[in-house]
Amino acid sequence: MRIQKNVIRILALLIAGAIAPLWSQNVDTILVNGKVLTVDRQFSTSEALAVSEGKILNVGPAAEIRKLAGPKTRIIDLEGRTVIPGLIDSHMHAIRAGQTFATEVKWVGANSLEEALQRIHQASLEMKPGAWLIVAGGWTVQQFKEKRRPTQAELLAAAPNNPVYVQLGYGWVMMTPLGYKALNINSESDLPRPGKFERDANGKLTGAMDGNGGNFAVVALFDKLPQPTFEEQVAGTKKFFRELNRLGLTGVGDPGGNNVNPVDYQPIFKVWRERQMTVRVAFSLCGPTEGKEFDELKGLTQMLPQGFGDDMLRFNGLGERITWGMNNNDHPTPEQKEQYYQIVRWAAQQGMPVTMHWPRDENADTLLSIYERVNQDFPIGNLRWSVAHLQNASPESLRRMKAMNVGWTIQRANAASIEMGKELGVVMGAGTDAHRVASYNPFTQLQWFLVDDKNGGAQRGPEQTPTRADALSAYTMGSAWFSRDEDKRGSLEPGKLADLAVLTKDYMTVPADQIGTIESVLTMVGGKIVYAAGPYAQYDPNPEAPSRAR
Ligand SMILES: [Zn+2]
Repeated sequence: MRIQKNVIRILALLIAGAIAPLWSQNVDTILVNGKVLTVDRQFSTSEALAVSEGKILNVGPAAEIRKLAGPKTRIIDLEGRTVIPGLIDSHMHAIRAGQTFATEVKWVGANSLEEALQRIHQASLEMKPGAWLIVAGGWTVQQFKEKRRPTQAELLAAAPNNPVYVQLGYGWVMMTPLGYKALNINSESDLPRPGKFERDANGKLTGAMDGNGGNFAVVALFDKLPQPTFEEQVAGTKKFFRELNRLGLTGVGDPGGNNVNPVDYQPIFKVWRERQMTVRVAFSLCGPTEGKEFDELKGLTQMLPQGFGDDMLRFNGLGERITWGMNNNDHPTPEQKEQYYQIVRWAAQQGMPVTMHWPRDENADTLLSIYERVNQDFPIGNLRWSVAHLQNASPESLRRMKAMNVGWTIQRANAASIEMGKELGVVMGAGTDAHRVASYNPFTQLQWFLVDDKNGGAQRGPEQTPTRADALSAYTMGSAWFSRDEDKRGSLEPGKLADLAVLTKDYMTVPADQIGTIESVLTMVGGKIVYAAGPYAQYDPNPEAPSRAR
């Protein structure tokens, strides 16, 4: 009798368990009447999506998804809009960009030099008298219809009473006389080495500093500029993440980089501690001091095991400048190579990912030989190692990378190299390398995949054009791989984190040369709306904050 009762009780529990998901799930939000690009294996499209407790509960036809709604479920009508998985930039210097975002002048998105100079002028009116006006990169000559750099006279006219600093990539800086005065630079010998004053065709000084090959002079000059206060850095970090949310980004891989030291991680740690992160960050560490890299990296990671952190902020190994000796060095000495080998061998032993800044294919053998040497002792196939940049990757380099399961973070790489990478099955994560050397806008980058704007917007030959699906996959699933997150995010599938963006235009059908104008009208991270505008403005958690770049 007793046994029978227990059996019945167990059966009842089993039945309840089986049917429970249909009605007892706490469904927070349902998105209906949309075009959901799931970026699953089949690149399938759906109408609707349900979010429960930060994750995707289900994706499917609207009628089916609607059935999951409970009395407290928020139902959002997409009115036909396209939804994509939150974009992930696999190589963005986001921690550094955030520090100065609240205090810098941005030239991102300026279509003319005239507009760029107007932004300088505007900033001179808004900021304290005598404050530095700093454009720390993030622009190219090609984005301006004038196709040229500013002159010193133009900057002076735009802001006669402020020191002005305008950096282009890592090779060139223009300052106004007040800038030179503030930094106490009176002659060429006061410039950081090996920088020199730029001269025009007639030998006349232009007012700019030429980095004279390499990054060193510009990095050192930037370091002389006054730093924003800690509070400004915290505010800048939040503001920058919100700006990324506006563009549909929900994740970045941060590769450390120039001018990033341990102290520079404190603002983002504060934002993380206060649970105000709206972009997931997987960060890697560089060796800060020349000659001391190995000791420093060992010290820094002593209490920072691989993977430490949470889904918002996670330690993800070493990169992108492991040692100074191998940084942008086409001909490292045997000692420099050995020092590098010792560090990455140790990283492999510790189970750490390594991502390495490597611009050119001509000497990729230097790097790949070291990876191969390590791979013999400590297989790296499961450690998510990668090469960043390598714009002109050759089939040979890509084959060697594939053989070790080394991924490739691509920015504006050659279309032919990208096609070859796809053919060989190399894991590719898209991104920008923002914000000093490039804009952080993922949509201008996606447009670039499909339309080569280097030649005045000329379409590539079809044989060299990745498909829209390829490009979006690289910006989502591809990038997720580098932080071992491909089972957690990068696609809109049941069980994955609800990171997504609702777009202003349909990425799949808008003319290719308009992809760059797409923005998000609703961005969700872990099921929480972090940015909303236009028809969804009522859902915006932070409507007071200015979201647009200046
Ligand atoms: Zn780099």
